[in-house]
Amino acid sequence: MIRTALALALFAVACSPERGAPARDAHARQQRTLHLVAVGDILLGDASQSHLDREGYDYPFRAVAELLARSDVVFGNLEGPITEQTKPLDAGKDYVYRSRPAAAAALHAAHFGLVNLANNHSLDYGDDGLADTIRHLDAAGVRHFGAGSRRAEAIAGEVVELAGIKIGFLGFLEKYGPYGTTYANWFAHVDSPGVAELHEKTMREAIGAMRPQVDVLIVSCHWGKNYAEVTKTQQRYGRLAAELGADLVIGHHPHVAQGIEVHDGVPILSSLGNFTFGSKGRFDALDPLLRRSWIADVTVSEGRVASVDLIPLEVDNHVVHYQPRIAEDVDLAAMSAKLDERFGTPLSISGGRARLEVRGRTVAAR
Ligand SMILES: [Zn+2]
Repeated sequence: MIRTALALALFAVACSPERGAPARDAHARQQRTLHLVAVGDILLGDASQSHLDREGYDYPFRAVAELLARSDVVFGNLEGPITEQTKPLDAGKDYVYRSRPAAAAALHAAHFGLVNLANNHSLDYGDDGLADTIRHLDAAGVRHFGAGSRRAEAIAGEVVELAGIKIGFLGFLEKYGPYGTTYANWFAHVDSPGVAELHEKTMREAIGAMRPQVDVLIVSCHWGKNYAEVTKTQQRYGRLAAELGADLVIGHHPHVAQGIEVHDGVPILSSLGNFTFGSKGRFDALDPLLRRSWIADVTVSEGRVASVDLIPLEVDNHVVHYQPRIAEDVDLAAMSAKLDERFGTPLSISGGRARLEVRGRTVAAR
């Protein structure tokens, strides 16, 4: 469905059919309800490689294939380059990830329309590895945002048009540890490749440029600490993105789900947690209520984010073996209460989902 939807979107952009169309047609398009599905960290490779080789590259997506297939847009964070380069940027780096070119086609086949590349692994195989990633994704028809061959490209984001509704995606990586220091060129500069930095100046520029072009603006942030609670940096930048004009902020990187804050009427999903991730993970030490990830099913209605449904996902690879599945036996009320004890965000539980109704922006974007 996504291929058809995106093909239609591209056709719509190319032909600009809305130009001069009667107002009632525009109104009808705005009436259509869209479902955008967001997942967290994706790594097709590393410890999961033997499963991919044995079972095929559709293996990681099989248990949630139907959910992905029936949504209008699927997107997530692609952690690790898609490249055949053999020389890592730094062989001594804590974790060095890489996926084979088959990963790009697998994402497309699993209905992924876009992926975020602003993360702490996109340059594990240097600038060439990033360029290969972009080339393989382009060839497979999977769009991407948050990185590029120069800064302007990295912060430009992507716009998807569906049923006349324009949805913009921007991605940013928090500057921490060796990123931007030991790995000095991790972040894109005027004339050098890299990822977009989670920084006030960059966000102001990127959000300011995209906001007037789109109906819905989604800001994707790779931030926080692994297996930890929401940090002050996450809160600060999540709120800033909301204040600058984002309609929805979606975080990833900590490998676990985190709480949901609503700031100025804008939902900030601090972390979705892992999706299919090619390392075992360290879930044993966690409170059982914190071992599941979220899939976010975002309803866009009348051209705005109307609600966010959070679906719990089993991702502990000791249990699911790199094939995440919807968590059936989780106490969803207890899980969402635990995650949200800090923010007190009210979620209504029904049909295996925790729903956040979005009333909309309460303060004009700055
Ligand atoms: Zn990460």
